[in-house]
Amino acid sequence: MFNLAQNQFLQAAEIMGLDENLRDRLLFPQRTLLVSFPCRRDEYSEVETVFGYRVQHILTMGPTKGGIRYHEDVNLGEVSALAMWMTWKCALMHLPFGGAKGGVRIDPSKLSRSELQRLTRRYTLEIFDMIGPDKDIPAPDMGTNAQVMAWIMDTYSLQIGHAVAEVVTGKPPVLGGLEGREEATGRGLVYLIQETADHLQLDLKHSSAVIQGFGNVGRNAAKLMAQLGTRIIALSDVTTGIVNRKGLNLTAVIEHVENTGSLKGCPDCDEISNAEMLELECDILIPAALQNQITEDNAARINCRLIAEGANGPTTLEADAILAERGIFVLPDILGNAGGVTVSYFEWVQNTQEFAWTLEETNNRLHKMLTDAFHRTLQRSVREGVNMRTAALIEGIHRVAEAKLARGIFP
Ligand code: GLU
Repeated sequence: MFNLAQNQFLQAAEIMGLDENLRDRLLFPQRTLLVSFPCRRDEYSEVETVFGYRVQHILTMGPTKGGIRYHEDVNLGEVSALAMWMTWKCALMHLPFGGAKGGVRIDPSKLSRSELQRLTRRYTLEIFDMIGPDKDIPAPDMGTNAQVMAWIMDTYSLQIGHAVAEVVTGKPPVLGGLEGREEATGRGLVYLIQETADHLQLDLKHSSAVIQGFGNVGRNAAKLMAQLGTRIIALSDVTTGIVNRKGLNLTAVIEHVENTGSLKGCPDCDEISNAEMLELECDILIPAALQNQITEDNAARINCRLIAEGANGPTTLEADAILAERGIFVLPDILGNAGGVTVSYFEWVQNTQEFAWTLEETNNRLHKMLTDAFHRTLQRSVREGVNMRTAALIEGIHRVAEAKLARGIFP
């Protein structure tokens, strides 16, 4: 995954003619922390050693920003790739942050609530010196949520001696979190799909969508797409995929997931594998699960007009080339899922100022910033004859390079 992030960067750097010295400075993270620590199970006698990471890619732009991922396969390469993408994402969105990411190598679904809390508090202490409202501000990512952020905020605040809401974003609203933060990534993706649909002259009321992943991003995107009148024909989670070409009844699906915990056994649909689902004929394909899903092995069989990336890194470079040749429009991850960090920025600003905006204000500002970034990217893509991913990367890299040159080198 780190190779993918580096190679995407190098390709964009080559096209934009980036200075070699700058290129080398941006190719690796500035700060990397790898820790191992004990996680005591509820069975008092059992202690597991787990690995945790926090990576800060670029410190030039302001504090660093990025989520914390709990997943059994997380490793330093993955976290470093995600940190690098955060840098370009924040710069593309004109947010005053560099990129960071954290991770703990554990499957959170196998932990009790008290185990999850202990793990989170210990991990927070392990990375304590690296984070802070002016240094590095974590947020939710895969496998973490508002409750995990609340425990991080509490652990950090106890060390400092007073409540520090602005040390994390994506908190519960009662602790200074924003009402619209949880759905912001999905909402942002749908705002961008609307802009893209206008550009491609795609009528969303008569379109179909396939969504891979039914976590925070996939579920919210599905809800909002359905509200726009788009037929959701297939969905998936870690247990299964489900399909109904006439359109799934989303209310019934959500009710089933709330009752049983997964998509398995959903009424009025057929089961389908994740791999088959990605190749279904549809107008919009939304990968909102894991990285590395659209590769040179299946890119030639992807059968849609638009790929809107909710996940980070779902498409490989080889697949990108095949998709471009086939005329499939890609809304790249660093733009597609930027709604999350943008509303995180709003949360941090409001915490710092101790002043709250309304949900309407949050969503209006999100819409404005995303459509602005979309049109800047689209214009660059057309002007320079590059695909949307490269255009978005160049937008981000350009801004970071300019800031680096303006700051100069010490001593
Ligand atoms: N984890 C999210 C992302 O990949 C959000 C990060 C944030 O809000 O800081 O963009």
